[in-house]
Amino acid sequence: MKYTTLLFDLDHTLFDSAVAEAVAFDDTLRSAGAQDPSDYYPTFEAINTDLWSKVEQGVLSPNEVRHLRFEMLIDATDLTADPVEMGNRYVWGLGNNGELYEGAMEVLDTLATSATLALITNGIGEVQRTRIDRVGIEHFFDAIVISGEVGTAKPGTEIFDIAFEHLGTPDKATTLMIGDNLGSDIRGGINYAIDTCWYNPDLRSSGGVSMTHEITNLSALVELERTPHESD
Ligand SMILES: [Mg+2]
Repeated sequence: MKYTTLLFDLDHTLFDSAVAEAVAFDDTLRSAGAQDPSDYYPTFEAINTDLWSKVEQGVLSPNEVRHLRFEMLIDATDLTADPVEMGNRYVWGLGNNGELYEGAMEVLDTLATSATLALITNGIGEVQRTRIDRVGIEHFFDAIVISGEVGTAKPGTEIFDIAFEHLGTPDKATTLMIGDNLGSDIRGGINYAIDTCWYNPDLRSSGGVSMTHEITNLSALVELERTPHESD
């Protein structure tokens, strides 16, 4: 068996979101008068992580995260700034900073010759569209599904239904979900009853979550597509 449909996550899988987040946060906090933005980062990270986990649970929309994370940061700290302005500036920074991981473009280029590719990403539409356009990867994908645009997120099954509809209902047996996040990508693939590939470059523990494949380098996907699978 060979996968004919490859569903990719974007953040921290193809795209180096960590750089984008660091630059955007520093700029946003300085614009709000912070002398040392790093002082505020642990609080922001805790708020942001909690809000995105609520998106995964389906109790919050991605677009609500945009300003709410700064309202909560201002409430929790000594900052006196406009959360809407901060939210907008941060979103601009997220879209306009960061690049694809080294080698990601080449991997997509190779895989696109033998499989149908799609993006399924949890995020704000404006951020993800800006990134996708700026790094020039839109042409690789037959479907780009962004939770902030469709109102439903991984690991729920609805966002996969939307992608499958765009792709003309491919065979689940030859579809693979590839991503770095156990809670959204791997759990989402399991929920949708498709094979999963965990991108785990930092060799983290899977915490008992069982995926079909695990890779530490994106180029391993090309090999995965060339070699027979265990289930053959
Ligand atoms: Mg990710």
